[in-house]
Amino acid sequence: MSNSAGTSGMDSSGGSQGPPDIDAVQAAKLVERITGNAWAADAAGKLIYVTPAALAFFGASPESLNSQPDKNTFDWRRVIHPEDYDAAAVAWRRCLQTGEQYTVEHRTLRATGIYGWVRSTGQPIRDGEGAIAGWYGTLSDIALPEDTDSPHAGRPAWDPLLSMDTVHPHDRLIDEQAAARAFFHGIPQIRSYRQLQADSSYERVAFRVEPEYGISIEVDPAVARQAESWMIASSLGETADAVQAALAVEKLYGGAWAIDVTGQFTYATPAVQTSIAMTLEDLNLLLDGKSFLEGGRQGWQRGTHPDDSERMGETVRHALRTGEHWNFECRILRANGAYVWHWAAARPTRDRQGRITGWYGTALDIDVYKRTEAALRERERQLQQLIDTVPALIWSAMANGAPTYVNKPFTEVTGATLEDMIAPDQSASLGVVHPEDRAAAREAFLHSVATGIPYIQRYRQHRVGGDYRWTETRAEPLRDELGSIVQWCGVSSDIHDLITTQEALRESEQHLQQLVETLPALVYCALPDGKPIYRSQRLRQYLGFNLEETDGLGKSRLEGTLDAVIHPHDLPAVKERYAHSLATGEPYLLRHRLRRFDGVYRWVETRASAMRNGDGEIVQWNGICLDIEDQVQTQEELSRAQENLARSSQAASLAELSASIAHEVNQPLSAVMNYSSACQRWLTAEPPNIERAQKTLDRIVHSANSAADVVSRIRALFKQSTDKRDSAELGAVVRQARELLAEEAGRRRIRMDIEGESGLRLVAFDRVQIQQVLVNLMRNGMDAMASVSNDRVVQIRAFRAGDMVRVEVKDRGRGVQFPDKIFEPFFTTKDQGMGMGLAISRSIVESHGGQLWAEKNEPSGANFVFTLPLDVAKMP
Ligand code: ADP
Repeated sequence: MSNSAGTSGMDSSGGSQGPPDIDAVQAAKLVERITGNAWAADAAGKLIYVTPAALAFFGASPESLNSQPDKNTFDWRRVIHPEDYDAAAVAWRRCLQTGEQYTVEHRTLRATGIYGWVRSTGQPIRDGEGAIAGWYGTLSDIALPEDTDSPHAGRPAWDPLLSMDTVHPHDRLIDEQAAARAFFHGIPQIRSYRQLQADSSYERVAFRVEPEYGISIEVDPAVARQAESWMIASSLGETADAVQAALAVEKLYGGAWAIDVTGQFTYATPAVQTSIAMTLEDLNLLLDGKSFLEGGRQGWQRGTHPDDSERMGETVRHALRTGEHWNFECRILRANGAYVWHWAAARPTRDRQGRITGWYGTALDIDVYKRTEAALRERERQLQQLIDTVPALIWSAMANGAPTYVNKPFTEVTGATLEDMIAPDQSASLGVVHPEDRAAAREAFLHSVATGIPYIQRYRQHRVGGDYRWTETRAEPLRDELGSIVQWCGVSSDIHDLITTQEALRESEQHLQQLVETLPALVYCALPDGKPIYRSQRLRQYLGFNLEETDGLGKSRLEGTLDAVIHPHDLPAVKERYAHSLATGEPYLLRHRLRRFDGVYRWVETRASAMRNGDGEIVQWNGICLDIEDQVQTQEELSRAQENLARSSQAASLAELSASIAHEVNQPLSAVMNYSSACQRWLTAEPPNIERAQKTLDRIVHSANSAADVVSRIRALFKQSTDKRDSAELGAVVRQARELLAEEAGRRRIRMDIEGESGLRLVAFDRVQIQQVLVNLMRNGMDAMASVSNDRVVQIRAFRAGDMVRVEVKDRGRGVQFPDKIFEPFFTTKDQGMGMGLAISRSIVESHGGQLWAEKNEPSGANFVFTLPLDVAKMP
């Protein structure tokens, strides 16, 4: 090669002082010095040199290389296995075009005539301008173990001792370390050492060590040159040279050191020594008089964190005793006073008999990593804490739905751990779901997992202790940047109270609704302005039309409704009352006639009152309407009956009347008789005494007038007794009598007790007259208790006594004072009394075939008893 005036080293990893110019011929020379199969080519790719080993490997002659000038005549097709040839050719051509390094593996025909696997590499040599000046490459035997033809068959990937024989003893330590670094840490290393040659001389070689392949025999000429330059400048002697080499590897690697079998440091890179401010002597110092192996502390332990120091000492001692490798993390005290996390590891070196000859190790600065890791761990801890303290049940699952995590509250609340959740028979997370809800929850979750649609489901979830509580579970998919689901994150929240409250509300609403609908009343509601918004079913049926049907008549719904349903006579009053209530908020109460669906007006009583909110504002009017038509009818009948009674109370039997008239009229009549005879005498006397006759006549007139008075007074008493006699039940008559007096009794705070057999039928009787007897007796009883302060009771008992009914009216008054006289007409002890009641009553009872008398009541008061004949034929 002649075209390149100078090339720079393509790889400066081994040197720092700038390698000297190099050309392709030099490269070829470099290659020549390398043991193993190597080649060099010019810029065009024409082989210019192949190591003898390689020629021997291929069974090729040197002549075969250069049979034609400027043409690559080496017959690669002959040596490369036909199946592998195309791939290798493509790699080589690409390398020529792009200048990129290549590595291919192919089978090569050996001199023995057998194909064996080789690894072939090639890369360009560049000149100062970066132009490609030539090529060089290697062929390394990578015979597979079963390839028994390979001379290295069965060799392990890396064994530091295997190649140590040819390494200069002073270089072994460093070489081992480089190899070890590559092996343990996966970092490519440069091995540079003096190699024992066949003539017993040493030659400097440099290797790149590829971790995957153990020690490779790939050659880096730049490093080789570098190493050579060290050799030339080796005026410092062997040790200095070793240190030089160590410095070179140090640039690729952290703190390296070696100890002997007793734990004494035999080597530590200068960088190590400066960074920890300790010399080898400092490191080896015995701190407490005892040797390290016997448990004594050694100087280096001062340079480690107190918390790590003991443990490290023990680990190293243990390794020294057993030969086990060690790896640990520790804090090493730097010269600047800071503890820095390192990862320390060591491996033993052994001699051919396998005895440990020493240890080599490294310490990697992993402080940044440790701190990052600690920060990450702290963040993770905080996140974990957060997840475990939020009052929610959080979980995650894989993209396929299999649970991967449940937080602490989840386990505390449901009692299920992650293990329970992923138990194979639970079909994902369904173990905590109530059996009845399981199918739905499962289907929904599978649907979400299949489609990626967020999951929301309400179900009863198991609780520690055995209960189930309503829970809402939501889960969202977490996606990567490509959009595919990485996992599902879910949260379950307890909504039991909400659900049960809602249920209770719904129930109570339903209950209320039912209540309103079944009330024996017509119920309605209206807005604060009176607009009707609700009518119970009964009211709708009663009116026969719905809320909205009066809308659209040009008036408000309230007005439309009122106009349609209220009796025209009552309408003004109703409207006025409504307006008043709506304006003031006062309750509404009115009786009026309401038009029923069939057009009939019936009396109703309507009441409405305002429902207010917490602030006292009216939110609604609620009203009821009671049909009081029957009541009104009864009332009317009752007043008619009362009128009748008032009239008939004046009626008396004819016999009574005549007795009374006889009694009352007799006196004035006999007076008239007497005065008339006297008058006659005065007129017939000689001479007639006109004056006296006149006076006597005046008396006659007076007496006649008083008789007429009596007659008219009595006539006024008895006017009407028109009712026909009929057969009826006595109980009804008694009840009616009580109703007639109910108001009066209430006013006088008197209780009326009725007790009696039912179905007591009387023979034909005058209902009004018998009622009058009862009313008389009851009223007398009430009068008798006027001065009694408590226990005011009138008791009416009616029961059968043979063919008769016996009716008793008892009171708790003072009792009868004049028992002989009370039945006489006009006997009374009362200021307003007429004294006719008992007389008339007796005559009525007797005219019906019964008897009336008074007895003493126990413990106090009177007992008026009467009997009447029963209609036995009609009795049950
Ligand atoms: P009046 O009630 O107008 O006095 P009555 O013929 O009904 O006429 O009663 C006559 C009198 O009999 C009464 O004034 C009263 O003195 C007496 N009497 C009637 N009922 C009772 C009674 N339950 N207890 C006590 N005295 C009574």
